[in-house]
Amino acid sequence: MNTSRGNTTSRLVAGTAALAAILSLPALGAPKPAEIQTALDAAYVKYRNLQEGANADYIPALAKVDSQIYGIALVTPDGKVYTAGDITSEVSIQSISKVFTMAKVIEDQGPHAIEQRIGVDATGMRFNSIVSVEFAQKALGGPEINPLVNPGAITATSMVNGATRADVWKKIIDIHSDFAGRPLSVNQEVYESEAATNQRNQAIGALMYAYGFIKSDPAQATDIYTEQCSINVNAKDLATMAATLANGGKNPVTGKQVISGDNVPEVLAVMATAGLYDDSGKWLYHTGLPAKSGVGGGLIAVSPGKFGIAVVSPPLDSAGNSVRAQKAIADISNALGGNPYAVSPTAK
Ligand code: GLN
Repeated sequence: MNTSRGNTTSRLVAGTAALAAILSLPALGAPKPAEIQTALDAAYVKYRNLQEGANADYIPALAKVDSQIYGIALVTPDGKVYTAGDITSEVSIQSISKVFTMAKVIEDQGPHAIEQRIGVDATGMRFNSIVSVEFAQKALGGPEINPLVNPGAITATSMVNGATRADVWKKIIDIHSDFAGRPLSVNQEVYESEAATNQRNQAIGALMYAYGFIKSDPAQATDIYTEQCSINVNAKDLATMAATLANGGKNPVTGKQVISGDNVPEVLAVMATAGLYDDSGKWLYHTGLPAKSGVGGGLIAVSPGKFGIAVVSPPLDSAGNSVRAQKAIADISNALGGNPYAVSPTAK
């Protein structure tokens, strides 16, 4: 298979954006500031009183989070931050962390490491499905899952190199902080609550070890995974993280190149196919956006070259995705032309 990454195209796109920046013009096709703020405000108001869904409660501490928290943030590649609603309340990042730990492994070991050890195919099953592991192993003969469902995510965490647990943890918290553009920290209550009740994830870790996907202590990998899921974030943090992916791996607010631009397409590809668990196809069908949800109520989405967006709102649907967040992001992206698959034909 030809795995070349189309560097010429990405250089051309980067060149056009650089030229636009020198001339201080908005990048080609970029939405204007007033349009962005209007779209955020409209989505905020439209869904503010929506009472669908419920907080996750299989992690006891999540059931206690205020269901009314509702914040929207959008960050553009030139570092402008747009917000609506509550962007200071923090929730635990949960499964959205899977994106950044995957990005760290890809950055350090190359895209093939994830593809070979875990796989990059959607399972079509719930995020903590054990059947998906058994099915991949028995019917497909190998690692045909992905790093955005629990078995693949715990494996990805186990692949972060470090001599001690503290070394591994430092790499994980640092990559999250670099994407967010500020030092992030862990919500201890959520971490302890999940650590006390995550026997299913411990079983998944042990199963991945038994099949040889995890090669180190699976209990430690599951524990670090649980801690990474407990990192506190607000809507602005999440939008900045998404915008770093929208901007070729460079944080548009801090200016730091967090991961190589060459590795971003692979990260976005897995988000596109598996970011919303078993509803990933439905989401992509309606928005075209690589995205990732977490049971804390966060949802990030990336319109490459245009914006990163995030919504925090804890009530979830039956697949485990924030109800308000899905609706608000879909509306805003559609208003701003965010779908990368939607292209106007040339005049000729
Ligand atoms: N920490 C959670 C779990 O492993 C993350 C799940 C999620 O956000 N979908 O169950």
